[in-house]
Amino acid sequence: MNRSTIILNRMMNDVHPRVLLSGWRYFLLMRIRSFDEQPQEISGRIQGKRNKYIYNTNIVQIDDEKISYECDCPSMVAPCKHAVALGLKYYAKQNRRGVWRVLPISFLLKMWFMVHKGIHKQQGLIV
Ligand SMILES: [Zn+2]
Repeated sequence: MNRSTIILNRMMNDVHPRVLLSGWRYFLLMRIRSFDEQPQEISGRIQGKRNKYIYNTNIVQIDDEKISYECDCPSMVAPCKHAVALGLKYYAKQNRRGVWRVLPISFLLKMWFMVHKGIHKQQGLIV
């Protein structure tokens, strides 16, 4: 398994479905303004919802099991949508996947239904 697959799988485990959808949208809309990869760290600058903010986001691989997400946005969740967009960008780049093929459509539809049915509302997460 290559590193981008390890990171993507880990991120899928950690992410809230609604955040995954937002991050995927950010990735599709190409809000990633800069992108850099180091042996243990991926970093990028991501354009916020309103164009006046750009957030510095990092995904740090601690080991094969553990990944930490850092972002200077106000979100309280980890990974936030900016980190998700960055992780998807990294995966797409490493695997030469087009933007529409980075996540299986069936997976996205499932996420969409979960979000729209409000299944996760009761968790009270700030997204
Ligand atoms: Zn963020």
